[in-house]
Amino acid sequence: MSAPLLELENVEKRYGPVVALKSLSLAFAEGAAPIIAIAGESGSGKTTLASLLLGFTDPTQGEVRYRGTPLQRLAGTARQQYRRDVQAVFQDPFAVYNPFYKVDHALYEPLKLFGISKSRQQARDMMWQACEQVGLHPEDTLGRFPHQLSGGQRQRLMIARALLLKPRLLVADEPVSMIDASLRALVLGSLRQLNRDLKIPIVYITHDLATAYHIADSIIVLYKGEVVEAGSAESVISDPQHPYTRLLVGSIPWPDLDVPWGRGQPILKEREQGAVHTGCVFAGRCPSVMPACSQRVPPLFSTSGGVIARCLLHPQAAPFAAQGLSSLLSLAPQAQESHLQRTP
Ligand code: ADP
Ligand code: MG
Repeated sequence: MSAPLLELENVEKRYGPVVALKSLSLAFAEGAAPIIAIAGESGSGKTTLASLLLGFTDPTQGEVRYRGTPLQRLAGTARQQYRRDVQAVFQDPFAVYNPFYKVDHALYEPLKLFGISKSRQQARDMMWQACEQVGLHPEDTLGRFPHQLSGGQRQRLMIARALLLKPRLLVADEPVSMIDASLRALVLGSLRQLNRDLKIPIVYITHDLATAYHIADSIIVLYKGEVVEAGSAESVISDPQHPYTRLLVGSIPWPDLDVPWGRGQPILKEREQGAVHTGCVFAGRCPSVMPACSQRVPPLFSTSGGVIARCLLHPQAAPFAAQGLSSLLSLAPQAQESHLQRTP
């Protein structure tokens, strides 16, 4: 069995006393092309996860590996290949452009950097095609300056840029949260089409469960750096098993995809501001909190519909081994063994 394309093993990230991401194991196998949403409010560790996947930051504990090699040890062509295979789309579709250059520059640069195009003409053809792939008219897009395009156009061009490298994984961190609501569906449509047509798996990071529901196959809900719920996007959002996810789902202004929710402001006030959590991270805000919740961190339980939830409200459910997350979310099609925790 060959090593996964990209893999996190027991990865944890701390910034001083803040645990931005708690121990997480996740593997992206070659050949599977799911869209997996990472959802949670601001501060839940989503961007930290993206930074770890993209090698922008090192884990405090555990390892991030590209085809079996820890990112810190990647060198030469392997490092170059990783840089090409794992591409990113960020939140701000303006910050990545140099305002003094035509947008072509942003597309031409990676072609040159990775030696992908043999000539200026070939580069032009590839840029033209990449624009079409994300639903932009090349003749109205290329040759313009960033400020002459709408936020949605700029963001789709960023997706085109990522595509020129034919990545094997795309990490999109809040790609639609800074663009006009009216353009959001277009950008999401571009992402989904790429995933389907070019079989590129996407990690779609969002604070917005409505867009996650529309685009993702599966979802991981993070709260304060911890996986609190995961499963198929359909099951998790239509029948959430964790009180936190229930609150998030309850606050979505259905059915309008174009209206943001929870942007910037927390859905619920922290009941015990600054309280030290010895048990469940969500206990201080949970409407169903029980005395047992403060005693220990609840394990993940396999609840109904293939959904796992880190909550003591599921006493009849079997504990779930965190290592089984990738198989549960169909990220690792070859790993078909049982996810149920084996007794030692
Ligand atoms: P999200 O993207 O879900 O909003 P982040 O991953 O940005 O969350 O942040 C998770 C937690 O880690 C937050 O408490 C944040 O303040 C902290 N954090 C993130 N990056 C840094 C950093 N470079 N230095 C210190 N703390 C950080
Ligand atoms: Mg973020």
